[in-house]
Amino acid sequence: MNKKQILAWLYEKDKKKLEQLFFAANEIRQKYVGNDIHLRGLIEISNYCSRECAYCGIHKSNNSIQRYRMTSKEIIDCARLAKKFKYGTIVMQSGEDLNIKAEWLADIIYKIKKETSLAITLSLGERSYNDFKIWKEAGADRYLLRFETTDPNLYKIIHPSKSIETIRQNENKLNINPRIFILKELRNIGYAIGTGVMVGVPGQTYDTLANDILAFKEIDIDMIGVGPYIEHPDTTLSINKININNQVENTDEMTYKTIALTRLACPESNIPSTTALSTINKKSGRKTGLLCGANIIMPNLTPLIYRSKYEIYPNKYGIDLNAEDINANVVNLIKSIGRNIGIGAGHRTKNHIHGLKQT
Ligand code: SAH
Repeated sequence: MNKKQILAWLYEKDKKKLEQLFFAANEIRQKYVGNDIHLRGLIEISNYCSRECAYCGIHKSNNSIQRYRMTSKEIIDCARLAKKFKYGTIVMQSGEDLNIKAEWLADIIYKIKKETSLAITLSLGERSYNDFKIWKEAGADRYLLRFETTDPNLYKIIHPSKSIETIRQNENKLNINPRIFILKELRNIGYAIGTGVMVGVPGQTYDTLANDILAFKEIDIDMIGVGPYIEHPDTTLSINKININNQVENTDEMTYKTIALTRLACPESNIPSTTALSTINKKSGRKTGLLCGANIIMPNLTPLIYRSKYEIYPNKYGIDLNAEDINANVVNLIKSIGRNIGIGAGHRTKNHIHGLKQT
């Protein structure tokens, strides 16, 4: 897949032709990662944040939300629930909460690993190299950090850097998105790395989105999460304020195209059908994502008392459903499309499936 082909598909509107794209992506998914759908239980451990990301509802200066940080017992109980539901992985996600101390979380990671052997993914934003190392040594396996965009100018607008020192010195020296630098750092420490973008974030052109898809492949990302951008009323970023040519639409169809193209570009990567997709199309978003290239679902395990407070975007799917109900929905969905629930950690497998070499 070259950039010209990716761009042509992103612009394609003909439903029949798009069916061909989705069919091809589904075939490639089947061939390289099989019929298993791996479940990653999501635990939203804190909504405190030290950043001012222009797209995100839990950014630091949003005073209209109540802040919470789960206790270690609450987090470990969620991991036990994941084990009970036979998930292979938990994902601990939060705002960039600098009061999540490295040692505190390392202790939780260690205990969960010892008791459950679950794979552990972290998604806690940009932290110091040392924190990443401590968590890896405690037993964490993977780290998710969406680079959000490969366009350095758009990145500066939607993700203002912070004045304090945790951002790598290199940020000023390299004209790249610092998150791309951090992802490479994480991989060197030994994490499997995940990234992604929001489809249709204000300021994202077709050209930018095509570059993002190519970057997933170039950096050789293990997990790629793409979901539609959903405007939050407590943020200043707004599609209506953007006046650029070729703004990508934040629709479900554009997200399906992005998932399918990502699958074709990165056949062996793990690709979730995201909660944001099921938020904008409650009826069939998640299912359609699974039918055009995705092979992962991240069911929410966060206790209901906190769920509505982790509102990165409004009306998040599952906000009023407890973990049992969400789990039942997911299991039914997987059965209804004739796929299997993956057993075990579901790490990315490289190069040896059907003897195919990575392209
Ligand atoms: N603090 C962590 C986790 C952020 S939430 C971090 O910065 O990595 C995880 C992802 O949700 C973000 O990376 C972003 O891509 C997505 N997200 C945030 N706000 C969103 C919105 N308004 N619409 C859709 N997705 C959003």
